[in-house]
Amino acid sequence: MGRTAIVTGAGSGIGRGIAHRLAADGFTVAIVELNPVAAEQVAEEIRAKGYAATAVGGIDVSDRAQVNAAVQRVREECGPILVLVNNAGIATFKKFLNITDDLWDRMLAVNLSGPYYCCQAVVPDMAEAGWGRIVNISSSSWQSGQQFQTHYVASKAGLVGFTKALALELGPAGITVNTLPPGFVDTPNMRDAADRGLFGGTVEEHAARTPVRRPGRPEDLAAACSFLVSDEASYITGQVLGVNGGRNT
Ligand code: NAD
Repeated sequence: MGRTAIVTGAGSGIGRGIAHRLAADGFTVAIVELNPVAAEQVAEEIRAKGYAATAVGGIDVSDRAQVNAAVQRVREECGPILVLVNNAGIATFKKFLNITDDLWDRMLAVNLSGPYYCCQAVVPDMAEAGWGRIVNISSSSWQSGQQFQTHYVASKAGLVGFTKALALELGPAGITVNTLPPGFVDTPNMRDAADRGLFGGTVEEHAARTPVRRPGRPEDLAAACSFLVSDEASYITGQVLGVNGGRNT
């Protein structure tokens, strides 16, 4: 059995792509995901290719007790968790004055407290092994901003700061912490927002304004993640690696 990796929110989009890639790289992948059907489906896709995957569905990363239970289950079934990809996230669009406290709190709970709970649950395994890799999926909007997303952008900018601070603290233990901020990746989530006109243009129009002339694919993020969690990336920590076709650089 290879090293065990947890990918949160891997039932869809970018997380699904990362889970497939890490499984192909030899990791035993645990899909910790809110949607139990999607979690099982992705685990089954991976196992059908002959790789190791387990689904832990029905887990809300914003709930510390659920996160701890999920991590404990993965540890018992698959061994210590040495890789964590904090990918689960939500994104909504609201004019600033229409943001309610509930919406603000939910955004921060999933996108920022979720990674915090997940890291606290797995870092002891990594520290004991003297080796660990954490990759936080943030958003290029942490740098550029995005209209009608003050709540989302605040959560993702927080995640970038969290990444940098944690990297300083965990480096001596052999644990690296980096962030990948996606820009415009063709996932169900992004298509839905673009179709509703929330990005100020169609997917094709955005692609035409991107230097490499296409939207990002989950595989693009997965390739970068694969490198960051490898042994070879041991001297890279606290970094923000833009995988964005040349947008927002
Ligand atoms: P997606 O909606 O396709 O997938 C997100 C997955 O996370 C879903 O399977 C969902 O069920 C799961 N999830 C949601 N809330 C959860 C919770 N509370 N607990 C556990 N799982 C939960 O999204 P995506 O486009 O693949 O985005 C993945 C990540 O990348 C997100 O953090 C998102 O903010 C970030 N991102 C995406 C883009 C893009 O262009 N697609 C751009 C910038 C940032």
